[in-house]
Amino acid sequence: MKRLTAIFLICFLLAGCASSEPVSTTVFAMDTVMTFHLWGDDAEEVSSQYAQMFQQISNRWSTQVDGSIPCALNAGEDPGLTAEEEAVLERIQALYVRTGGAFNPYLRNVMEVWGFYDQEYLNEDYELPTAEQIAAALADPAYDFGGVIKGYAGAYAAEQLLGYDVDRATLSLGGNIQTFGTKADGSPWLIGIQDPNGGDSLGILSVEGTCAVVTSGDYQRYFEYDGVKYHHIIDPETGYPADSGLCSVTIICADGLTADALSTALFVMGLEEGAEFWRSSDDFEAVFVTTDGAIYATEGAVLSGCEYEVITR
Ligand code: AMP
Ligand code: MG
Repeated sequence: MKRLTAIFLICFLLAGCASSEPVSTTVFAMDTVMTFHLWGDDAEEVSSQYAQMFQQISNRWSTQVDGSIPCALNAGEDPGLTAEEEAVLERIQALYVRTGGAFNPYLRNVMEVWGFYDQEYLNEDYELPTAEQIAAALADPAYDFGGVIKGYAGAYAAEQLLGYDVDRATLSLGGNIQTFGTKADGSPWLIGIQDPNGGDSLGILSVEGTCAVVTSGDYQRYFEYDGVKYHHIIDPETGYPADSGLCSVTIICADGLTADALSTALFVMGLEEGAEFWRSSDDFEAVFVTTDGAIYATEGAVLSGCEYEVITR
């Protein structure tokens, strides 16, 4: 049995950036290496608060932290929601409905039965869950917000900057990038899309202003068992890792929480259904990478450095 797990970081390019140097910080929070670049008089002050802020968000939203919102809800207890948290829960529910359940925040027991929480597949005696165990886990819904929390955290962090003297910023949270403001020379932010096969960046996205660029990929968290790869994005209809012919989906959207939910949902949907979903929406662009290495981008995505097919309306 070969076991493997990996979390790759999306590559972030700052070519041609502002004339002044940013304050750059790296922290480990939410199981992820996070890197921030902030420009402005308050950059130092805000950067020093970020690690704690992300820890607080993790403490509230992670299924793996005792006393968190999902733990309380799953135990039938009152999580003591703030107005902000209540609004986030409502938005998560709306995204579940909007995606027809492809983004499904009720997969805690399915994630657990596969051993994704404690990386049980690293144990010598790990066995794959049986079909019965998977069906039982699916039939017993419990909250897991892992599909949206980093996107939400990035958007929340960017929003906090409005109260400070910070001109612009880039926040890299694992596979999620959040930009804030405009580059000093007015040119777009340039963001490299991670090559699912581990090479350098696959292509470069140009995005304007405050924006989230979020990738879901089968290479971000997975293991191999008897030569078969099992990744962490679950098809809610089957309870098995989504087998949609994609290895990554990148969403470009003004809102981070939406971007994160949609990256997970469109990965589950696959190329055709994902493209159709995009056609019926007007708030995001997407880049799809198929398991055979082809790249497709919706017509509003500004992608360079690779060959790809454009998806039109
Ligand atoms: P992401 O990397 O944003 O695609 O999120 C993947 C994480 O979201 C997993 O590690 C699970 O915690 C959770 N998850 C898995 N499958 C789904 C799904 N279909 N809908 C919502 N969340 C999911
Ligand atoms: Mg997601």
